[in-house]
Amino acid sequence: MSRPVWARVDFNALHSNLQLVRTLAPGSAIMAVVKANAYGHGAVGVARSIRSLVDGYAVAGIDEAEELASAGIEKQIFLLSGFHERPEINQIGERGFIPVIHSWEQIQQIDIASVSRQLTVWVKFDSGMHRIGFPPEQVAGVLDRLGSHAHVKCAGLMSHLACADDRKSAYNDLQIELFGRTTAPFDHSRSLANSAGVCAWPRSHQDWVRPGIMMYGCTPLLDETENDIGLRPVMSLCSKIIAVHRLKRGDRIGYGGDWCCPEDMRVGVVACGYGDGYPRHAPSGTPVWIRGQRAGILGRVSMDMMTVDLRGLDEAEIGDVVELWGKHVAATEVASSAGTISYEILSGVTSRVPRIIGEPPPRVPGHRA
Ligand SMILES: *Cc1c(COP(=O)(O)O)cnc(C)c1O
Repeated sequence: MSRPVWARVDFNALHSNLQLVRTLAPGSAIMAVVKANAYGHGAVGVARSIRSLVDGYAVAGIDEAEELASAGIEKQIFLLSGFHERPEINQIGERGFIPVIHSWEQIQQIDIASVSRQLTVWVKFDSGMHRIGFPPEQVAGVLDRLGSHAHVKCAGLMSHLACADDRKSAYNDLQIELFGRTTAPFDHSRSLANSAGVCAWPRSHQDWVRPGIMMYGCTPLLDETENDIGLRPVMSLCSKIIAVHRLKRGDRIGYGGDWCCPEDMRVGVVACGYGDGYPRHAPSGTPVWIRGQRAGILGRVSMDMMTVDLRGLDEAEIGDVVELWGKHVAATEVASSAGTISYEILSGVTSRVPRIIGEPPPRVPGHRA
């Protein structure tokens, strides 16, 4: 039998989160962000399951777009950072992908590529994040230059919010205003909002919203939980207890022996580690869910295993299912315990972890999956 570790992906929760996007941004089309293997959830499965709920998809690069197109996904697929090498331009044109152009270098590549079939692009400008995008004052020039190509059509203008997770940040109003001023002279489609924009900044919604993390059921906002917003977790990362030990007071656990038992106690070994994408920096005490209650991890996370505290879980035994994150322990909570964000741990679930589609089985204490 293979190692007992799996990521359950609940499409009902995904659909419910997308309904929330619709409710919050009723006037906007939805560009579902499915980059990085749909934040670790499986890009093709996710894209298929939300087909009727979204208006397009966004990925980081052409390989991710190819994966979707090859699987028969027919809606518009946006390449959020355009293309990286000239030969991609023809492939993009043939497939009908929509590159988001952000630099003069990319425009030069289009000039040289002598595009001979219709190529639809969007243009990204920088409204304050200072990552990628043209300076706002160059947008008119960029559109002119693209307009000089008979087969190239610019359909939209995009920018990205830097601080939307913070409801108190005044930077958002500045970015939203600059976005409005920059796009006003043109009648192209407009897109500014990520998940945090969808949840907290209605004026950022514009023609297209670009939700990522909220679709997967994690909060995009500082200081607001999934429950506050009404999001349902989509991924549950699960494993099982594969060994149980009675340790003595003073016994040390794991690499480096960092954790020392303060009393005689039972501990369990769980078959999940950083080789599966569980964050190695999660400290002792980071919660897991066993038999209907929380337990803390102990000592250092290793590649294939971790140890958990079974004090107060006298019935726990080999074979018990352990939820590392999911319905009972939010990925956000594990991430913050490990000093990172939900995005990183979700997209970091490795390829050796099978994705299983469906809702979790009914919650029976100590159930064996
Ligand atoms: C990743 C990404 C998004 C989605 O961001 P979330 O915070 O996950 O909603 C939106 N727009 C761009 C340009 C992105 O790169």
